[in-house]
Amino acid sequence: MADIEVPVFIVGGSLVGLSTAMLLGYHGVRSLTVEYHRGTAIHPRAAQTSQRTMEILRQVGLEQIVRRKSEEQFVQDGGVLAVETLVGGAIAHYIADLNEGVHDVSPTARVFVAQDALEPQLRKRAEELGAELRFATEMVSFEQDTLGVSAVIRERDTGKTQTVRAQYMVAADGAYSRVRERLGIRMLGHGTFSKSITIYFRAHLAPLIEGHKWAVVYALNRQLRGFFRFEKPFEKAFLAVNTVGDPENPVTDVSTGLTEQRSLELVRTAIGTDSIPIAIENIMHWQAAADTAEVLQDGRVFIAGDAAHVMPPNGGFGGNTGVQDAHNLAWKLALVLKGFAGPGLLSTYGPERRPPGAFTVEQAYSRYVLRTAPNMSRDGLQPVAPDLNVEMGYVYHSDAIVPEDRNDSRVHENPRESKACPGTRAPHVWLQRRREQISTLDLFGRNFALLAGPEGKAWTEAARDRARLLGIDLDVHKIGENGLTDPSGACPAAYGITPTGAVLVRPDGFVAWRAKTGDSASAERIKGTLATLLCRAS
Ligand SMILES: Cc1cc2nc3c(=O)[nH]c(=O)nc-3n(C[C@H](O)[C@H](O)[C@H](O)COP(=O)(O)OP(=O)(O)OC[C@H]3O[C@@H](n4cnc5c(N)ncnc54)[C@H](O)[C@@H]3O)c2cc1C
Repeated sequence: MADIEVPVFIVGGSLVGLSTAMLLGYHGVRSLTVEYHRGTAIHPRAAQTSQRTMEILRQVGLEQIVRRKSEEQFVQDGGVLAVETLVGGAIAHYIADLNEGVHDVSPTARVFVAQDALEPQLRKRAEELGAELRFATEMVSFEQDTLGVSAVIRERDTGKTQTVRAQYMVAADGAYSRVRERLGIRMLGHGTFSKSITIYFRAHLAPLIEGHKWAVVYALNRQLRGFFRFEKPFEKAFLAVNTVGDPENPVTDVSTGLTEQRSLELVRTAIGTDSIPIAIENIMHWQAAADTAEVLQDGRVFIAGDAAHVMPPNGGFGGNTGVQDAHNLAWKLALVLKGFAGPGLLSTYGPERRPPGAFTVEQAYSRYVLRTAPNMSRDGLQPVAPDLNVEMGYVYHSDAIVPEDRNDSRVHENPRESKACPGTRAPHVWLQRRREQISTLDLFGRNFALLAGPEGKAWTEAARDRARLLGIDLDVHKIGENGLTDPSGACPAAYGITPTGAVLVRPDGFVAWRAKTGDSASAERIKGTLATLLCRAS
């Protein structure tokens, strides 16, 4: 018998491991996470947080806390632009205002919040929800069989080892995932194209930055190419450097042999003056790569986050994509572990998450080439899709979706145009619940949910009846019932249904099935659909 028995064992307790632990806890599943480091992130790293990630944080009650952290750290709605040097001012604007033109699609907004501020919140919420997190603890080996996964963990300080037995394991162990390597899962894509560095430094930059809505500033000149990110009150920042020297024929290994003096020179060059005192605080070495794992599951082991897809930071997509992996996987593990869904549901994780992962990798790569690397070939470069499509317009195709058009293989679309087509994120519409303004998205989360139009009673009655028979918790909502109203009258059209129609929405807020009208409403239809979606024999 193992020292520790737990339903889900998570390797890696950074952004994605912590998100997985938190979301499993939200669904009532116990987990054990081991993290090699002694605590949560000490470097800012990821900061650009998409609306989709914020929607997930809203679901677990963290939206407002994270927003406050963001307000402490960053100028709100900061932009993404390019300079030759900071002193010289802007030469190109990629995003003038982080939230320009996107407020209508979501009840929440994009923020910048750095990993060193976000991870403690994820950790706290995960622990409140019952997750066990062990820092300074390493997973040293694992084996899987048909019934579960056995692993050995080791406390770094004492050297004490323990055995763990879990039904499932999630590898959120980062870009150099040893779990992925051990499983022999290959990474496919463009490979590594720069040995980059991030220089964390202190300098009194307020006179250059204050008054501008600058959050991410690319520095593109003949000596170096990379980007700055600034935190309030502009006394500290980081400069990521991807290449140095002639942009047409650059040196792509910035990392090897780097000295503190050279780092200082790079920061001075990017700022454009020697007159501001600079103190180097830390240097992080990382590789810019664009690859996706060939599969995201091997038996009872799932890979998520940077272990599943690595991409350059251009676009701010990497961490967000990992959080979406965790969100996709957590409810599936919960329903299978509770016996409500067949194990086939878990086999939909890879088919659903790999295509958006690979698409996002290509989008980050295109942004890297176009913004940073004029030397790199543009042949076959994927055209840049709108950020909104990348962040929340990804489309799922799997056995956990009932498609309306079997030939539809779109990977992304504008979320304003999805209209609750099965496989897409359920759209946001403001509703009223008694005196409270809520989003349609606030109706989804813990369970499958049926949302019916104002004349969709046939569906709600059928759903209540059949869910009981299937033994699952199904949340049933109808516009005009139980104090739920649609003041703008926009909901049916936004969901592509008539007033008598209905949609079934999964716990991750993705539409699984849609009936545009009430014509075919029957308890049998609901039962069969739910059984299919849960990968259960009907
Ligand atoms: C300069 C920079 C800026 C970025 N900006 C953004 C941004 O704005 N937005 C965004 O979305 N993304 C951004 N990213 C990307 C983002 O940082 C990563 O995608 C994200 O950190 C990945 O999280 P992860 O949990 O998957 O992996 P990691 O953060 O790499 O964490 C993996 C963890 O697993 C642990 N581990 C590994 N093996 C073991 C083991 N055997 N036992 C125990 N623990 C183990 C490691 O210690 C590590 O803490 C940026 C990246 C960089 C470099």
